[in-house]
Amino acid sequence: MIPSAFEYAAPQSLAEAISFLQGHAGQAKVLAGGQSLIPLMKFRLASPEYLVDIARVPGLAHLEERAGHLAIGSMVREAVLEASPLIRARYPALLETSLVVADPLVRNFATVGGNVAHADPANDHPATMLALEAEIVATGLDGERTIPVAEFFTDFFTTALRPDEILTEIRIPAPTAGSGGAYVKLERKVGDFAIVGVAAQVAIDATGICARAGIGLTNVGPTPLKVHSAEAFLQGKRLDQDSITQAAQLAAEAARPEADLRGSIAYKRDMVRVLTARALTRALERAGGHVAS
Ligand SMILES: Cc1cc2nc3c(=O)[nH]c(=O)nc-3n(C[C@H](O)[C@H](O)[C@H](O)COP(=O)(O)OP(=O)(O)OC[C@H]3O[C@@H](n4cnc5c(N)ncnc54)[C@H](O)[C@@H]3O)c2cc1C
Repeated sequence: MIPSAFEYAAPQSLAEAISFLQGHAGQAKVLAGGQSLIPLMKFRLASPEYLVDIARVPGLAHLEERAGHLAIGSMVREAVLEASPLIRARYPALLETSLVVADPLVRNFATVGGNVAHADPANDHPATMLALEAEIVATGLDGERTIPVAEFFTDFFTTALRPDEILTEIRIPAPTAGSGGAYVKLERKVGDFAIVGVAAQVAIDATGICARAGIGLTNVGPTPLKVHSAEAFLQGKRLDQDSITQAAQLAAEAARPEADLRGSIAYKRDMVRVLTARALTRALERAGGHVAS
């Protein structure tokens, strides 16, 4: 399939990119790795008049810890994320997410910023960002603003980004002692989008009580879902077989799946229950705890 005709801009600075977007509001789209946008254009599901390629914009490909958080520049490619010793050592949920995005060919181009900005409920990173309580840095004509990821996914394929804003960075709180995370994905075959995906992040105190829990769901609603009910339920409780089972049930109830070729509503809901229990159990083990029955 051939996309509609479009003009291509390759700005050399962030200011130039933002000013181009502002001058062509509603007609221009940011192009990052192109792994979601180009297929959409080929199917004529998107027909932007202008593409603003941000690959040459400096300052968007950093990956480092600073001031208590991990900063991921929006142009960090999945292949860079998954090979990073920092991510491998300290951010297991992020690593597990990156490793199941598509296939290595796609991951050589696909960016973390693009995965999140695309706001596809089937994309893997959003659920993990919700569990990790990331912040999204958006830069526009008025400068920078920070959006909690829980407020970022506003609707189906829609985010809180304004038309002249570029997602420039994702910030993830650095792991504290006694914390751990995991991402568990059920897919029909390797490289496919999720039937269901669940991200979990927990922090336990010295006595094994849950100080904080984060749970995000992939592909079971019109947006990536944060499971507030299960998070609140776990806070202050000992993480054990019983509390994890109850939290998993709450996650299943919070899911809003639709039936499609990947399964029925009942099947997907039950997979949310199963995968939430697995993700919480793995997160707890990584936090230094274990599931006592
Ligand atoms: C064969 C195949 C399999 C796939 N499987 C998976 C999968 O299993 N899991 C998964 O999560 N994804 C999957 N994807 C989707 C794709 O990998 C992700 O959506 C990808 O990470 C998008 O990143 P990108 O850099 O390519 O974004 P692009 O395609 O360049 O952009 C995507 C959207 O985000 C916007 N955008 C991008 N960057 C920014 C920015 N910095 N600021 C503002 N807006 C921006 C663009 O305007 C566009 O609307 C698959 C894709 C393919 C082709």
